[in-house]
Amino acid sequence: MNLILLGPPGAGKGTQAKRLEQSRGLVQLATGDMLRAAVAEGTQYGKQAKAVMARGDLVSDDIVVAIIAERLDQLDGEGGFVLDGFPRNVAQAEALDAMLRSKALKLDAAIEMKVEVEALVERISGRFSCASCGKGYHDRFDPPKVAGKCDVCGGTEFVRRADDNEATVRSRLEVYDRQTAPLVEYYRKQGILRTIEGMAAMDEVTRELKEVLDRL
Ligand code: AMP
Repeated sequence: MNLILLGPPGAGKGTQAKRLEQSRGLVQLATGDMLRAAVAEGTQYGKQAKAVMARGDLVSDDIVVAIIAERLDQLDGEGGFVLDGFPRNVAQAEALDAMLRSKALKLDAAIEMKVEVEALVERISGRFSCASCGKGYHDRFDPPKVAGKCDVCGGTEFVRRADDNEATVRSRLEVYDRQTAPLVEYYRKQGILRTIEGMAAMDEVTRELKEVLDRL
């Protein structure tokens, strides 16, 4: 099964994509994670992307399409993928369609996670994760059970994304509205759009998503 999770930053795409890896064996393809890794490693792409990401703008289509093409090439034979954060505009969606056609692959669904934009700033500005195992937390909604200690691995170091501050979050949300939201229509026209309510609690969203996927 090949899926796209569509929704603004903070909608819960990453959380649900990770759960789909576990429950359905899908491979999560998150361009944001790939770009952050490229920045951390100081690769050519990473150097080009760093300042753009810090501003909350979109990295050039050439770079993200090249990164995704490489990852799709490596996937052959696996059980499907879930795209998280890609495509981010119509040009990327068209490039994806062309890539999939050339590999005789197709998308089963683009799932729009509907959220209230006003709530997203608080959701995103409070999030952080364990530096050792990557488990995600939130200052208010989902803090570790014991303050300062990771529930999963016991790690005591935590990290926050450089672009999860309020000013950058607001520009990321604007970029979403302008460039990414039109993809809802793009996939509706292809007949593969499905919509779920993303404001519910995480487990409830997971259940809703499962229902949608079971009906495909
Ligand atoms: P994310 O982790 O999906 O919120 O992405 C973090 C940042 O990485 C975004 O604000 C963009 O700067 C960049 N980025 C991630 N995916 C893409 C994409 N498909 N196209 C362009 N830029 C992207």
